[in-house]
Amino acid sequence: MNMILLGPPGAGKGTQAVNIVEKYDVPHISTGDIFRENIKNGTELGKKAQEYMNRGELVPDELVCEIATDRLSREDCAEGFLLDGFPRTVFQAEKLDEFLTANGKKVDAVINLEVEKEELITRLTGRRVCRKCGASFHVVNIPPKTEGVCDYCGGELYQRDDDTVETAENRISVYDTQTKPLVDYYTKAGCIVNIDGATGLENVFADIVTALGEK
Ligand code: AMP
Repeated sequence: MNMILLGPPGAGKGTQAVNIVEKYDVPHISTGDIFRENIKNGTELGKKAQEYMNRGELVPDELVCEIATDRLSREDCAEGFLLDGFPRTVFQAEKLDEFLTANGKKVDAVINLEVEKEELITRLTGRRVCRKCGASFHVVNIPPKTEGVCDYCGGELYQRDDDTVETAENRISVYDTQTKPLVDYYTKAGCIVNIDGATGLENVFADIVTALGEK
């Protein structure tokens, strides 16, 4: 199954992605993770992306599309994939459709996680991420057993540079203007499922499985 996770920053895409890829046995493709990995390794791509990311802006379409289609061309995507954080503009969605059509594929399902703005800010600014395995925690909602330490791998938890109040607000307004039009785009395509993302981790996942169907 070829799937996309859509929703504003802080809607829980990364958290639900972990459950979805496990259940449906597809690779998790997060363009944000690819950029962060490149920043960590000091690559040219990382340098280009970092300035946009730190301001809460989108990395230019051409750059993102190239990275995403490269990744989608790999063997492990042959039987399906879960895109998380891509596409983020109508241009990207059109490029993705072109790429998939050229390869005899299509988008099967778009999971749209809906969460109110105030809740998003609380989630983003309290988010802590494991440096080693990428697991997400929240200082109040999902605290780790030991402060600053990942429950799963013992790695160090840190706050993303773009999870400050100012940048988080900017990312949400960028979402409203540039990414939200994709809800219409995929509604017209007839493959979107709208999920209330504020009902708690387990309920959200149960709703996703109900919408997608058992594997
Ligand atoms: P994320 O981890 O998905 O929240 O992405 C973090 C940041 O990476 C975003 O705020 C953007 O600056 C950049 N980014 C990730 N995916 C995309 C995309 N599809 N288009 C443009 N910028 C992106």
